[in-house]
Order: sequence, then C-alpha cells, then structure tokens
Amino acid sequence: MGISRRNFLKGSGLAAGTLALSGKKAKASADAPHLRTKGLQVSTTVCPYCAVGCGMLVHTKNGKIVNIEGDPEHPINQGALCSKGSALFQVANNERRLSKVQYRAAGSDKWEEKSWDWTMNRIAELMKDSRDKHFVKTETRDGKTYTVNRNEGMAFLGGAALDSEECYLWSKFSRAMGVAYLEHQARI
Ligand code: SF4
Repeated sequence: MGISRRNFLKGSGLAAGTLALSGKKAKASADAPHLRTKGLQVSTTVCPYCAVGCGMLVHTKNGKIVNIEGDPEHPINQGALCSKGSALFQVANNERRLSKVQYRAAGSDKWEEKSWDWTMNRIAELMKDSRDKHFVKTETRDGKTYTVNRNEGMAFLGGAALDSEECYLWSKFSRAMGVAYLEHQARI
C-alpha cells in the first residue's frame, strides 16, 4: 500500500503524540545528572603533561580544587582528556604530594626539609662550579684551533609541557650557560 505525504505526516504526528504521553520524556529528564559543579568557581587552564596542550576547567570551592575536567570550548581537545589528564585532580589533591623541598646531602641517609631560597642558591652554586670546571674555550681539529665556548659539564632537558615562550627562554638560558647538550623529553 502506498503512503501519501499527508498520511505520512499524520502518522508521524500521532507517533510523536504517543511518545509525549508515554512518559518517556519525563523519565529522561529525571535521569539527567545533577551537576556536581553547579555554583562552583571555575577557571581555565592547560594540562601540564604534554605538548598536546588540552584545555581544562578547574572548579574550586573555598579556594580548594574540587574538580578538573576537559574544557568543551577548547579548540584542541573540545572537552576530551586522556587518562593522564583526567587524573590531574589526584595530583592537586593528594596527601602524598611533596610540597616542600627535600634535600639529602651526599653520603647522608636522611632527608632534610629546605627553603626555596636555600635551594635556588644551592642549585646556582653547583651550576657555576660545574660550568667553571668543564668550560671548554677552544678545540683543535686537523691542526686548526676553533673557538667553541662549550660547557661540557651540564645538559638541559626540556619538557613537553613547556609552551613556546618557555622553550625560547629555556634555550636562551642554556646557550648562555654554554650548554651544547640540549634535548627535549618529547624527542627522546
Ligand atoms: S590531557 Fe593528555 S593528551 Fe591532553 S595535554 Fe594532558 S597529557 Fe596531553
């Protein structure tokens, strides 16, 4: 039997009316999840783990992070996160997370808590020592002497979470230190 356009539209309207009366729509809205982030303060950030740079939403309550999820409006990930990014909340809220500098002196079996000022000075001292000891000014090859100004006592390793501006500063700093061994975690 052929179906006319008019009968088809009538039938469709009847089916839609039946669906509306069947209670299915009401059930669907009752099943809608309650937003646990409703009313919380939200800010945007970028995942620190890799160079994909997924956008995230961070929800806070009274200054404490209570939820992190993918940002649906971010052009890179459009709300999706990999398993590592999805677990970022556990990094922010983790009783085992170290928040103070721990230092173990050479030969010691004990960790000591140190201030950031002490730590930065210590790192600067060691870097200077190493540069002074291992700086090579010239190199002779095939009877010719070349100026190389190379620091052979140090290597720099960049991380995939660095953005372009940070990479620029990092490479400039390493060159200023005379570092020739400059690598990147994502390339290794
Ligand atoms: S969520 Fe995963 S893919 Fe996205 S930036 Fe973080 S680590 Fe990389």
